[in-house]
Amino acid sequence: MTTDRTSPATGGYVQPELDVRGLTEVLDGEYAEVRDLVRANLVTYASVLDEAEELDIDAYRERVRELVVEMAATGQTGMGFPKRYGGGGDVGASIAAFETLAFGDLSVLVKVGVQFGLFGGAILHLGTERHHDAYLPGLITGELMGCFAMTETGHGSNVQALGTVARYDVDAQEFVITTEGDQARKDYIGNAARHGELAVVFAQLEVGGESRGVHAFVVPIRVDGEAAPGVHIEDDGRKMGLNGVDNGRLRFDGVRVDREALLNRFADVTPEGVYESTIDNPNRRFFTMLGTLVQGRVSVGGAGVGAAKVALAIATKYALRRRQFAAGPQGEEQLLLDYGLHQRRLLPLIARTYALHFAQDVVRTQLHGVFSDLEDDAQARRLLEARAAGTKALATWHATQAIQECREACGGAGYLAVNRFAALKADSDIFTTFEGDNHVLLQLVAKGLLTDYASEFEDLDQLGMVRYVTNLAVETVIEKTSAHKLLERVRDLLPGGDEWDREAGLLDSEYQLAMVRYREEHMLAGVARRLKSGIDRKRDPGAVFSEVQDHVIAVARAHMERLVLEAFVEKMRTLPEGGNKVALGLLCDLYALSTIEADRAWFMEHGRLTVQRSKAITREVNDLCRKIRPLAGGLVDAWGIPDAMLRAPDLVGEA
Ligand SMILES: Cc1cc2nc3c(=O)[nH]c(=O)nc-3n(C[C@H](O)[C@H](O)[C@H](O)COP(=O)(O)OP(=O)(O)OC[C@H]3O[C@@H](n4cnc5c(N)ncnc54)[C@H](O)[C@@H]3O)c2cc1C
Repeated sequence: MTTDRTSPATGGYVQPELDVRGLTEVLDGEYAEVRDLVRANLVTYASVLDEAEELDIDAYRERVRELVVEMAATGQTGMGFPKRYGGGGDVGASIAAFETLAFGDLSVLVKVGVQFGLFGGAILHLGTERHHDAYLPGLITGELMGCFAMTETGHGSNVQALGTVARYDVDAQEFVITTEGDQARKDYIGNAARHGELAVVFAQLEVGGESRGVHAFVVPIRVDGEAAPGVHIEDDGRKMGLNGVDNGRLRFDGVRVDREALLNRFADVTPEGVYESTIDNPNRRFFTMLGTLVQGRVSVGGAGVGAAKVALAIATKYALRRRQFAAGPQGEEQLLLDYGLHQRRLLPLIARTYALHFAQDVVRTQLHGVFSDLEDDAQARRLLEARAAGTKALATWHATQAIQECREACGGAGYLAVNRFAALKADSDIFTTFEGDNHVLLQLVAKGLLTDYASEFEDLDQLGMVRYVTNLAVETVIEKTSAHKLLERVRDLLPGGDEWDREAGLLDSEYQLAMVRYREEHMLAGVARRLKSGIDRKRDPGAVFSEVQDHVIAVARAHMERLVLEAFVEKMRTLPEGGNKVALGLLCDLYALSTIEADRAWFMEHGRLTVQRSKAITREVNDLCRKIRPLAGGLVDAWGIPDAMLRAPDLVGEA
């Protein structure tokens, strides 16, 4: 039960009683056990939060490595690997574990991500039995550390254009890996500067002088702690954050690896030098390979939600203790959270965090389905990839925004390193870039929408995709969203007819959903029409696409906000009646209305919001904040963040 004092009830409203433990159970869901294991490990190794500040960079890196290996011994980090190799055989559990680990030191989190998610994930999903037998047992324990060497100095987002080459030498039956020029140097690679023995290296495969596109190879980069022959290793040095992770650069100077070093799940080279693949189209092969690595994006999105929770828990607890300015002439100074402005700053962020938590539940469940072969069709995979990309973008941007707002909400105290914000800000900032830059990911989401996730999607390279979107799919989208059809859709979307949205209750979830659905469809039609008009004028498809990119990003964001709201509303429908359902209902309304409010200019421009109604939404958001304020402490407690992770004793009080 929440212990906060009750705010004056408005309009017959009765404040719900929050059952915090019950709410934690709802949030932890089917993965309560693994989340509790991670919570226990976080407490056991809580000293790493101090060590991150006290140790020099080398010692900190060693400490993080040590800790990752010790956590691996508890089974926490190997959940996603097959049981026969010592893993837990549960993909969903591995994501839930990662989400929870984000409550702690983020260097530990990212090292776990590099070792088990990226390196281990590539061996598991791109390799075959011989690679699994050789590497999985060692990497699951953390004894064998490895890298995922994809990004190069010259290419990060555009992975198809990588410059590293792997040429097949038929006489020696070996691949020769070569860094062709400075831009082809592998860069920012986790585990490269210090601990990695092996690297999964992504390179352009050449067989018999013919290029076959990007493939992955297992390459030893260190032998007995020294760089392997032909491998040049450089340290990336101190970074803005995550300094417990040893990121580095790799160059390959004609490094020879056995023919069997090719991770050959999707393509192979025979000893005689014949290239074979079950997937003929090179682009489809490439996207299929990359698609198997989607788990990394789902993990980082979940970690973004976790990091935002820590910041919001600290700032909310502080706002429930900190007083500034007396409300009346002689009165006691007022708690920060009793200020309307402070409520406005923190509570919509708490609502959005809950919304993203439930959206993350959906994407994790989809991932589990696809990767446990419960649901294995190409359409499900494409939908998963788009959803993972969009959720990651929204969740990591949310983390960046929430952490900054919370730091400011804690005033000068928020700036002291002991209070966690320094590390949270510095360490989580890059979440918006790695595992796919957010703007690039949202373009991927939009392309899926514009092509209706057509199977041709995977046959096309970047430019081909743009042409496809602009030339062919546009027709379908325009047809589907033509002025006439859109009007019909409005009638479907707004169950009470075109005028209904002027009168429907603002707190009616059907109304809220209709608004965000309408916005998405309208924007999609707008992008399609702009693309078509450019093509009709015989302009270059790439240039046309580039000109409408802001619109493309907006439609992807609108789509994702719709999915996030749907996830929240769906979750609400499954809950038993009671205080927790009422409290989550308030949060759901707050998320929906603050989302509409944030884009009210668009809704007004498009005739879906009158001036009066727009003002009414703002009033409702303020009212919801007042209602949620007495529940705020319980709502952040329900996330189950161990006290030791909140640190900040002067801000949150002693446990
Ligand atoms: C700490 C850290 C750890 C990392 N770990 C690894 C690792 O272990 N392994 C690995 O392989 N990589 C790793 N990376 C690399 C990371 O994945 C890349 O930095 C990321 O993919 C972005 O690539 P880039 O840096 O080349 O940026 P770019 O692709 O050059 O993007 C720069 C900017 O240009 C914009 N942009 C790019 N293309 C377009 C477009 N078509 N339209 C509009 N805008 C565009 C982007 O939005 C972005 O804002 C790591 C990076 C860091 C910093």
